Amino acid sequence: MNTMILDGRKISGQVLETIREDVMEFTELTGRQPGLAVIHAGSDPASAVYVKNKQKACKSVGIDFRLIDLPDTASPETILAAIDRLNEMDSCDGLLVQLPLPSPEFNENEVIHRIAVAKDVDGFHPESIGNLWSGAGIIAPCTPAGVMELLKSYGVPIAGKSAVIVGRSNIVGKPMAALLLREHATVTIAHSRSVDLPSICRQADILVAAVGKPGLLGREHIKPGSAVIDVGINRITLDNARAAWRDPDTEIGAKLAAKGFALIGDVDPLAVDGVAAWYSPVPGGVGPMTVAMLIKNTLILAKKRNGITL
Ligand code: NAD
Repeated sequence: MNTMILDGRKISGQVLETIREDVMEFTELTGRQPGLAVIHAGSDPASAVYVKNKQKACKSVGIDFRLIDLPDTASPETILAAIDRLNEMDSCDGLLVQLPLPSPEFNENEVIHRIAVAKDVDGFHPESIGNLWSGAGIIAPCTPAGVMELLKSYGVPIAGKSAVIVGRSNIVGKPMAALLLREHATVTIAHSRSVDLPSICRQADILVAAVGKPGLLGREHIKPGSAVIDVGINRITLDNARAAWRDPDTEIGAKLAAKGFALIGDVDPLAVDGVAAWYSPVPGGVGPMTVAMLIKNTLILAKKRNGITL
């Protein structure tokens, strides 16, 4: 069986191209650009890269990007005060706080709850989550929304199919279940306490892995002919890579040999080829789609706040 690669770079480029035209229309109608604000507190290097990618994507489509960069030492009150200011600011249409917060002792829920629902571009506010599950929502969290866009772009059948999501986080696993259910899949969520993960996963016509464990899912988890969507992002080095991944004739082995590290998903990339019918790899699959969906969500909220028909 030929495995079709779901190319997130290509599809996200197409999504951004459409958004660019809509942004121009919005700007002509309102006399200002749509605005996205990101509050980033701390110095986590991965977060800094994510914020940069968001900024770059905004610039590429003409969305006004505002970064509130706070130090590691920022108090919860400082973060909440920044949210309050942006909630009131008319030129800000979408607002998010880059997670994780600088200290695990900060109350993440308090921060998320403080964001005005009308500007909740990540879709993490409890009211946004309720709207998503009830079907009243106009946006969905960016990563699962990106997965749906990829599946639809490649015509992967969803209605009536069995979907298994491995991982039950609030930002990926749970909203992913809501979106697949909305498209009439029969949905199972598996997690760290699930018993006999391989047999649960082998039922899946659509398998979504969102765990954070390099290569957790192998051949024994994949139903032949299925769609395998890898959300996980894990950094491996020559020291902790499995022997098969170090083979320099493989893509991953070549990267490891060249740089000493590589990014790998939760699915063993060597287990998919020729078994799955569709495969969204890491990198180049869901990652670029996530940023594109953030930009799309910003535009949707901007239109809604300005009474422009969606
Ligand atoms: P999380 O840590 O919040 O949740 C992980 C989930 O995996 C948990 O629900 C847990 O029950 C489950 N799990 C852990 N060990 C397991 C096991 N052995 N078997 C089955 N389930 C197990 O993680 P998250 O925030 O949902 O992120 C998951 C992965 O997705 C991470 O690698 C993260 O970096 C990546 N991610 C990627 C994007 C993207 O844009 N591509 C966005 C968000 C997260």
